[in-house]
Amino acid sequence: MKDYGRYGSKVDQAAHRIFDFGMSGDPCLKETGKLCEKCNDLLTAFYHEERLYSVHCFRCGTVHLVEAENPDDAAAKVGW
Ligand SMILES: [Zn+2]
Repeated sequence: MKDYGRYGSKVDQAAHRIFDFGMSGDPCLKETGKLCEKCNDLLTAFYHEERLYSVHCFRCGTVHLVEAENPDDAAAKVGW
């Protein structure tokens, strides 16, 4: 378990938490049917309430935060 407290601000800590969650392979991350623009791997998404989604690519280690109506729309904003 990382010690997020060593990072500076609360927003820094939040960014690290979201990134690490995205890379965790947590079963709550839903496959979207959309592919990463960079590496063509399948994107996963997680709903954070109030239309906010995080979209994740495990292969290239990217996490995007987007507003959308559903996971596929969220993934379509950053993939294809
Ligand atoms: Zn990728």
